[in-house]
Amino acid sequence: MHSMNQRELFYQHIAQTSTAPMALEIEKASGCVLTDKNKKKYLDLIGGISVANIGHRHPKVIAAIKKQLNAYLHIMVYGEFIETPQVQFAQLLTQHLPQTLNSVYFTNSGAEATEGAMKLAKRVTGRTEIIAFNKSYHGSTQGALSVMGDEYWRNAFRPLLPDVLHLEYNSFTVLENITERTACVIAETVQAEAGIIVPSKEWMMALRKKCTQVGALLILDEIQTGFGRTGKLWGFEHFEIVPDIVLLGKALGGGLPMGAFIADKKLMDQLAENPLLGHITTFGGHPVCCAAGMAAFNVLQEEKLMEEITKKEKLFLSLLNHPKIKVVRSFGLWLAIEFESFEINKKVIDACIENGLVTDWFLFSSNCLRISPPLIISEKEIISACKKIMKILKRRS
Ligand code: PLP
Repeated sequence: MHSMNQRELFYQHIAQTSTAPMALEIEKASGCVLTDKNKKKYLDLIGGISVANIGHRHPKVIAAIKKQLNAYLHIMVYGEFIETPQVQFAQLLTQHLPQTLNSVYFTNSGAEATEGAMKLAKRVTGRTEIIAFNKSYHGSTQGALSVMGDEYWRNAFRPLLPDVLHLEYNSFTVLENITERTACVIAETVQAEAGIIVPSKEWMMALRKKCTQVGALLILDEIQTGFGRTGKLWGFEHFEIVPDIVLLGKALGGGLPMGAFIADKKLMDQLAENPLLGHITTFGGHPVCCAAGMAAFNVLQEEKLMEEITKKEKLFLSLLNHPKIKVVRSFGLWLAIEFESFEINKKVIDACIENGLVTDWFLFSSNCLRISPPLIISEKEIISACKKIMKILKRRS
């Protein structure tokens, strides 16, 4: 009888929601490099989609995980026991956030952070309307899907959350739709899956002001923009505003699954009354994930990775020039290379993979190639990656 290889088993038993998975069979990941089962090496230009900000398997993260493994794994549902890794990580995060963001609810994922934050906003304001933006992505669960900014993905799963309004991102005129009926406005600080769309500082400030005026909570999704990606620790620092609730995920766990929503304790405490246990999670803030996340956060600071971002961004920009490239949008070590069509982009991405560069496209911007590498990527690696991309573009022109 024919026994299936890993690839066949993958297609047989791993539920597929993509019609074209990359299906790379990686045996080892280290720093910026992925090695497949045939020992072929790939430079990782996407870091598991903005997760591996300090690189894969940083020795300090591995050491912190091992240390916690020797103490305890899961011991009780979230929030019942005093778990040192949770307490210490929450303290560390809040020390690096504005004063009003001082109470951390750890979740399992970014989507769960979105869910928790929307519940908190409804609970605190007693209102129901939620405002989100076109081309936004906040997760795939039904609440998060309700605020996702694309009808194609929402439509098949209706009915979703009622009383959700989608507005044009970075538009001043739409702000009048935020009223005293609005519980919260949820926005990505910089729109990621739209292909790196950076709002103006004036707009962000006007959005903040409008929310304050009408008593709506401003939720900023920092799941991709957080942890140094944009050159600052948090994306909202560029806009000189502070959200009422911030969402974290992706790089938060240093490679382990984790999310968080963070707000002022005065708001957060309301999740403990009417009803009691306003949000429950078994594994949220898992001690091993917290230990890994804390180690990763410390590495980001100790290795001063954020100081190098602008230089590395400029290096990428200076090397990515070709008539086939319509535009390169960037914000920190985060770039979207726009081509005329998805077909061109797909060919380039496939050729990149053949040539040992892992990249992909953006959910709402399929004609844009994503560059969101570990922040530790070296100048040498950037030069080599850009040379390969240029060679691919020349070959196919
Ligand atoms: N928000 C943003 C901006 C994201 O990019 C993502 C994931 O891609 C999420 C939320 C959802 O996070 P998760 O996949 O951990 O549920």
